Amino acid sequence: MQIKKSAKVHYVESLLLAAAGVSVHGFSTRHEGVSRPPYNSLNLGLSTLDSSHNVEGNRSILTRAFGARYEKLVTVTQVHGNDLLVLDEPNEDFSHFQKLECDGIVTNQPGVMIGVCVADCVPVLLLDPNKRVIAALHAGWKGTAEGIVRKGVEAMVGFFGSEPGAILAAIGPAIGPCCYQVDTPVAEAFRKAGTQFESFAQAAGPGKWQLDLVEANRNQLLRAGLEEGHVETSGFCVSCEKDLFFSYRRDNGETGRQMGFIMLQGKK
Ligand SMILES: [Zn+2]
Repeated sequence: MQIKKSAKVHYVESLLLAAAGVSVHGFSTRHEGVSRPPYNSLNLGLSTLDSSHNVEGNRSILTRAFGARYEKLVTVTQVHGNDLLVLDEPNEDFSHFQKLECDGIVTNQPGVMIGVCVADCVPVLLLDPNKRVIAALHAGWKGTAEGIVRKGVEAMVGFFGSEPGAILAAIGPAIGPCCYQVDTPVAEAFRKAGTQFESFAQAAGPGKWQLDLVEANRNQLLRAGLEEGHVETSGFCVSCEKDLFFSYRRDNGETGRQMGFIMLQGKK
């Protein structure tokens, strides 16, 4: 992945998704927005204590920079679960989806920008360039334990006939194992859900581990049938990269949210 600029907005681009050509996508940084500290400045999360006026202004800056319509940006109320919103028909009013409690969005509708907000959790974008289907998924430790990226792939297969071997994945900037220590409840949630934990967790003392959420999600995508060369990771730890990204842990919960977003190009 690489840092690029669209209009005035810096973002992280997946080379893999960009090469496929059918979508506009990216992972935002914290720059070029209107919010003041500690949300400075491109805070895209409605769940923060930042003014909604500022967040809406920032969302408008983002959509404009990528040629999307503000009214067609779809986000949901993320609750660290594994439920998905599937949009498979044209719709003129997307605003009410914001109230839905789920952690991923899947669609085949061109011109609809779907996004997930994060500030440590893993944003995952999926693209099937053959069937023209996209997904945006929010994978924190709970969502990862509950296999949200696997569910995202299953929804693309089940609703839209995607072949897992054709799906491309971009795993965006998230907290790295360098900065992400977890304890026993996290390990137990993984074990209970039957999700591999030990392979991605380095012991860091009694009942403590440094967890690699990006690698755990990459592994789930491979197990779901994606090709190794079809899964790209960003290499950024949002906690280490203070100038570029928000980090909930680093900033003690008072911080903004960056967004992983994707939109199919085409009619509309
Ligand atoms: Zn780090």
